[in-house]
Amino acid sequence: MYYLSLEFLMGRALGNAILNLGLEGRATQAMQELGYRLEALEDWEYDAGLGNGGLGRLAACFLDSMATLALPAYGYGIRYEFGIFFQRIRGGAQVETPDNWLRYGNPWEVERPEYLYPVHFYGQVSSRTDADGALRFLWADTQVIMAMAYDTPIPGYRNNTVNNMRLWAAKSTREFDLDYFNHGDYERAVSDKAQSETISKVLYPNDNVFEGRELRLKQEYFFVSATLQDILRRFKKSSSGGFADFPDQVAVQLNDTHPAVAIPELMRILLDQERLGWEEAWAITVGTFGYTNHTILPEALERWPVSLFGYVLPRHLQILYEINRRFLEQVTARWPNEPERLRRMSLFEEDGEKKVRMAHLAVVGSHSVNGVSSLHSEILKAQLFRDFYELWPERFNNKTNGITPRRWLRLCNPALSRLISERIGEDWVRDLDQLRRLEPLAEDPRFRESWREVKLANKQRLAECVRSLTAITVDPRSLFDCQVKRIHEYKRQLLNLLHVLALYNHLKANPGAQVVPRTVIFAGKAAPGYAMAKLIIRLIHAAAERVNDDPDLDGRLKVVFLPNYGVSLAERIMPGADLSEQISTAGTEASGTGNMKFALNGALTIGTLDGANVEIREEVGEENFFLFGLTAAEVAQQQARGYDPRELFDSNPTLRGALDLIASGALSPGQPDLFVPIVAGLLDHGDPYMLLEDFDSYLNCQQRVAAAYRDQEAWTRMSILNVARMGRFSSDRTIREYADEIWGVRAAPVSLPPRKRS
Ligand SMILES: *Cc1c(COP(=O)(O)O)cnc(C)c1O
Repeated sequence: MYYLSLEFLMGRALGNAILNLGLEGRATQAMQELGYRLEALEDWEYDAGLGNGGLGRLAACFLDSMATLALPAYGYGIRYEFGIFFQRIRGGAQVETPDNWLRYGNPWEVERPEYLYPVHFYGQVSSRTDADGALRFLWADTQVIMAMAYDTPIPGYRNNTVNNMRLWAAKSTREFDLDYFNHGDYERAVSDKAQSETISKVLYPNDNVFEGRELRLKQEYFFVSATLQDILRRFKKSSSGGFADFPDQVAVQLNDTHPAVAIPELMRILLDQERLGWEEAWAITVGTFGYTNHTILPEALERWPVSLFGYVLPRHLQILYEINRRFLEQVTARWPNEPERLRRMSLFEEDGEKKVRMAHLAVVGSHSVNGVSSLHSEILKAQLFRDFYELWPERFNNKTNGITPRRWLRLCNPALSRLISERIGEDWVRDLDQLRRLEPLAEDPRFRESWREVKLANKQRLAECVRSLTAITVDPRSLFDCQVKRIHEYKRQLLNLLHVLALYNHLKANPGAQVVPRTVIFAGKAAPGYAMAKLIIRLIHAAAERVNDDPDLDGRLKVVFLPNYGVSLAERIMPGADLSEQISTAGTEASGTGNMKFALNGALTIGTLDGANVEIREEVGEENFFLFGLTAAEVAQQQARGYDPRELFDSNPTLRGALDLIASGALSPGQPDLFVPIVAGLLDHGDPYMLLEDFDSYLNCQQRVAAAYRDQEAWTRMSILNVARMGRFSSDRTIREYADEIWGVRAAPVSLPPRKRS
């Protein structure tokens, strides 16, 4: 099984390796004997940040689960020299600096110079007729770049299995072919080498946004080409006959459309190199690939200009035309005289600049298409891929995301893990459904007391982290209200902030008000080119400045922005959270996995019926979940009808008060117009994510949260029940479903002879 992903957001490896190998006791003791704490050592490791957010972290959780389930599975990706940028905050604004994570070397990777493949770009295609009368295509005059393998071991949880993540680095062919040197053009040789190695230089920092750059297309093809060469080498080594059983021996999962060029690439190999006929090659290709869709946001869908695609990959463009010709023939046979349908379904978008629709390619070239939560998969069938679902209903399925319980509970929350294991043993680490056995303990007052003590200790740790990162002091007894994720308008950090400003106005107007003290914690990176997201970060800081320094508030409200959100920071935040903000506009968040990490660490969720929130609420029980807002169907209705945010603004004084604080310039002295675009986006540009529509419902819900928090016994009961009922969201369950229903792959457990002690 091969998991192809442009992103793997791995975080640190040391603690995870020690845990999975069962070395915790010995490693802790060894460090102690040397006069150190193991934790302090772990803090020195750089995060491997080869991903943007949820999609990349999902790939990392999947690798852990595939190894833990002893599946014969490989991860394939790119060894970026620079991962996701470091976020610093200067004057309340995001500043990006390069993530030079390899600077001090990477002890986890093993160079494999023996796995080195040429990858071709550009050039021309010519055709000729063979001696046997077959039409053959020759892709020539290409530029060649070498892909070299770097392997990272992926240990399973105490099962003797170690899988492999293979990442490709670009190397100049000049190191191996000394043409320029021999002709005396030394400088050209060196600069050409640097030029070709840019392919694996840097991760594109966009989350859920498509940027149609030539270098990105080259990254996608570079990694796909090297990976398929490696897969074919391995297939040929172990298989005697031809390609007929290729789809039985090989399963390839495409993590979004980023690696979808693998579809025409496998066709090219089978047609042009292996000399198979089209029909046979196509059956093998479709039988091999599965495609996971991660978003329906139009701005995130990959649509490559045909001119660019044909320039970089001319033979692949020919193959796409032929795939499309045959596909549209099939559609016509089923629905004659429906030109509109053909236009909608084509792999090519024809209005405006002609483009390749990579999502359509991925659906046509795969035997399985899945969404990542139940709601998202339904939306795919009803909207984005409706026509395709009518044609091939059997291809469509759902695989609700999950998270690995090793990193996201056992490792990141040792105190809660200990408390849980004391009561139900340690099996939950590999069988998360075991957490159900905590349910009766929710009624045990002494267990609740211990649960609260653990949460408080974790909040103290988080408060210490807040102080060291921001110099802001927060009270661990206040409600820790957390929204940590990439900054994006659809995720609605701004809605959260409007609640903060409404609370602020309320406290200013009612100085003696008895409110539940809150610490509102934000963290998340904005894509460097996403102006509105960067402005939202500035607004959060401006609000923090105003709120935190106001003596009238008497510490009842604090706002914090933690810089440089990443896996390691998430591991610190999740255990200390009371409230998890999952407030995207219904229908926009495909699944979310941050929602799962919080709930697994005992935070309660305030959320919309979006993505996996729906299923989390079903599992934990509606009485243990704070629900607000429009449903996806209501959002769609409102958008079809068209709604007037001004009307809501005029009729809701609380909303007006919060927005006026932003619009008036009061938060940005010296730059009164700074935040005007934010207000304009809501009032003048149609409020596309319906913040104003959901505002009232959100505020009411936050009042229910505060009331619930006052009753600490009841709150603790809900927290325990949330954790007890999160078993379904283990990525072990997700991977079992992929393995059984899409890949047809079974465990290959490793048993070792007992080891002699030395
Ligand atoms: C889990 C995770 C995400 C995804 O969070 P969502 O709330 O689902 O968007 C993003 N970044 C990091 C570092 C994560 O660990």
